[in-house]
Amino acid sequence: MSASQNQGFNTRAVHAGQDFEPRTGAVVPPLHFSSTYAQDGIGNLRDGYEYGRGGNPTRDSLQEQLAALEGGTHAYSFSSGLAAEDSLIRALTRPGDHIVLGNDAYGGTYRLISRVLGDWGIGNTPVDMSDLDAVASAVAAHKTRFVWVETPSNPLMKITDIEALAKVAHDAGALLVVDNTFASPYLQTPLALGADVVVHSTTKYIGGHSDVVGGAIVVKDAELAEKIGFVQFAVGAVSGPMDAFLTTRGLKTLGVRMDRHSDNGQAVAEWLLERPEVEAVLYPGLPSHPGHDLARKQMRKFGGMVSVQFKGGEAAARKVAESTSVFTLAESLGGIESLMNYPSEMTHASVKGTELAVPVNLIRLSCGIEDAEDLIADLEQAFTFIP
Ligand SMILES: *Cc1c(COP(=O)(O)O)cnc(C)c1O
Repeated sequence: MSASQNQGFNTRAVHAGQDFEPRTGAVVPPLHFSSTYAQDGIGNLRDGYEYGRGGNPTRDSLQEQLAALEGGTHAYSFSSGLAAEDSLIRALTRPGDHIVLGNDAYGGTYRLISRVLGDWGIGNTPVDMSDLDAVASAVAAHKTRFVWVETPSNPLMKITDIEALAKVAHDAGALLVVDNTFASPYLQTPLALGADVVVHSTTKYIGGHSDVVGGAIVVKDAELAEKIGFVQFAVGAVSGPMDAFLTTRGLKTLGVRMDRHSDNGQAVAEWLLERPEVEAVLYPGLPSHPGHDLARKQMRKFGGMVSVQFKGGEAAARKVAESTSVFTLAESLGGIESLMNYPSEMTHASVKGTELAVPVNLIRLSCGIEDAEDLIADLEQAFTFIP
């Protein structure tokens, strides 16, 4: 069964792009490894399939599922989140164009834009995306092609008004790109709020099991789609069949996983808030968070990512990061298992010393789908090691 846009999220997650195989009736569409396709006479292709870089049924099934969940018309899947971002930027910008991005953007995104694409003539200005006047003046000061935002942001968990930001971008003739990795399409659908492009590291919540690296671009405009599709084909940073299959399998359970991640994130954040060792808890589900009302408006729930800052500074943060056992100390996020990250030396080491640097007393938690009491007990025992 295919899915239609008026069906609920979980129905689309399970069915979009997942038609059973017509010959045998296999309910799970088969994984297609073939790199090439037999032609019925020269140039006479079966269903458009010619060569694996240009098209693969397993990748197509994932792309259809992604488009259905983000409410887009076209989706493109890539070998990593950064490969998707690189292809997006190469498809839609030219030397002399400018990107205005959040001053707490994912470190790898900033590194790609500043240190790789900067040399090819793409400028950038990092700004605080929650300050719309600052965004508007940064956009006006250059030939801005993209306004690029992550909300919630990583790892400071700032919330930006997507609808208002889309207006700022469009008034200046720019496109709004939303990196929806942290929220996932279950919690937030930026295209419906006016964004032009959604990018994902599908390595995180979409794959959901920490066993596949991938990325995606979703759009709702045929002209943008054509340009992105061309670069996906011409550059070739596509996801392989096995990666696409694993990502599709993960995506089918995104809704049920995000409900649990969100419940656990809320429970952990509320527990942290009561602890005397804690200076600040950054979680949009707390009424004290400055973006709480906005997050309630544009997100279904608040997700599983929680950042926390310690009164005991860097020493306390490092000690907790190295003292848990249910939370595993590792980069990445969004898997079913809880992960612990010390951003300033791990995920965000590449922006150390820049204006995107992360506070040294901060740890970031990716709350998995284990039992909340066990996550809290693990943190409680780790806190006893704080010097
Ligand atoms: C991980 C991540 C990326 C990069 O994706 P990869 O799959 O690691 O290449 C981009 N944006 C955000 C918000 C991320 O967390």
